Amino acid sequence: MASQFPPSSLDVHDYTLDNEPEGLSWDTFRCVYELVRNGNAAFQENRMEEAINFYSRANSIKSGDPIILGNRSAAYIRISQFFMHRTSSSSECSPLSGLDPTTLAELGLKDAERLVELQSNSIRSYLLMAYALILLEKYEKARDVILSGLQVDPFSISLRTSLQNLERVSSSSTGRSTHGQPERNDDFDCTLCLKLLHEPVTTPCGHSFCRSCLFQSMDCGNRCPLCRTVLFISPRTCSISVTLKNIIQKNFPEEYVEREQEHDGLINLGVDTLPLFVMDVVIPCQRFPLNIFEPRYRLMVRRIMEGNHRMGMVIIDSSTGSLAEFACEVEITECEPLPDGRFYIEIESRRRFRIIRSWDQDGYRVAEVEWMQDIMPPEGTRDRDILQELTNNAAESARSYVGRAKEAARHDQRRLERLASVEAMMPSLRDPERFSFWLATLSNRRPSERLDLLHIRDTTERIRRGLIFLRQEEQGCRIQ
Ligand SMILES: [Zn+2]
Ligand SMILES: [Zn+2]
Repeated sequence: MASQFPPSSLDVHDYTLDNEPEGLSWDTFRCVYELVRNGNAAFQENRMEEAINFYSRANSIKSGDPIILGNRSAAYIRISQFFMHRTSSSSECSPLSGLDPTTLAELGLKDAERLVELQSNSIRSYLLMAYALILLEKYEKARDVILSGLQVDPFSISLRTSLQNLERVSSSSTGRSTHGQPERNDDFDCTLCLKLLHEPVTTPCGHSFCRSCLFQSMDCGNRCPLCRTVLFISPRTCSISVTLKNIIQKNFPEEYVEREQEHDGLINLGVDTLPLFVMDVVIPCQRFPLNIFEPRYRLMVRRIMEGNHRMGMVIIDSSTGSLAEFACEVEITECEPLPDGRFYIEIESRRRFRIIRSWDQDGYRVAEVEWMQDIMPPEGTRDRDILQELTNNAAESARSYVGRAKEAARHDQRRLERLASVEAMMPSLRDPERFSFWLATLSNRRPSERLDLLHIRDTTERIRRGLIFLRQEEQGCRIQ
């Protein structure tokens, strides 16, 4: 019914770099500028949750800024609108970390109200507020807001169009009509998720399930979830029922697209959101194999491998009993599914992050993260030169350490291979921060010590510790 409303022209605004930083330092303003720019990019690509995230971060630095408030309001309205117009059968899925469309519209309204207070002469403020009110079905109030806007600019085309749309929407809302498509029964629903079949797989016993639902169920045993027949199929070899999929797609095109987006939402989480493997402290520049056998992690790995191959690796902090605050992103560089459903994977650790918040998703943790970097002396300064020199010298020590270790291990093939693998991970010396982590991977340290290395933001200090570790390693003749 109201699918034309708010119009798709509802858009976000950009900063220009010559905007006055107003009491902010140039660096802080630069940071706000970047956050808004990233938010807008996410908005344009319809990744609203991510966009909201960026705007909220910008807002926490520069609160009461009309551009940030307006853009976030637009994003809330868009995502609320999206979830309100889904069909009823898929509405059990909770959008945006549990927020329902009404709450989202209310958040959009709150930002728009602030915006009207701040900029009572801007048409956009009134439009946003009216859109939010319409989503909340407060048509009378929406009308008042549009009329107030028309007092500011009686010739505004967008306000006039909105008024016309509003009349149409509010008159049709009395007799809620459906999308004009025949109601469907549940013949094409998956008995596991009770939603329209997505990528349907038909088992030899003749039952059909969503591909992801079937394999999630099979993580706990190789039987058909419906009739308990033992199944000899695996995600790798089993194919989708093409005919069934075509029939579903042809008959319920909109709903199928929604199911695809829903599925996609579990795989592509956005740049600052990561699924977590809770195991140990990993620091950047490590490479090692791992066996994945727990059902919840099998599901997680399947989703990761459909997406960007990345996850976070984190330890439970023994002092608090909850997730440690700092952790590291790893990339799955190789993934071999075993016939019994387990995975053998190889991973390389990349960047460290701080966990802002985390939540449960189908049995595993997902976290919103903030990427961490050392505080570097700027390029071209004396301090930077000193750090570079320290890095170069430390690299020399590391090379001779590896040389001696290889010599000592010349009859131990496995140890030699491990040393070669560590050596191959050595980053460029032009990146002292990465190098400092790599240096620390040469020795075996306790989890708490590795956690400290993630925590500190001083490259010099990390290199210093790495060198001490190396010395202790040699004195203790400990083998990595
Ligand atoms: Zn399903
Ligand atoms: Zn069956």
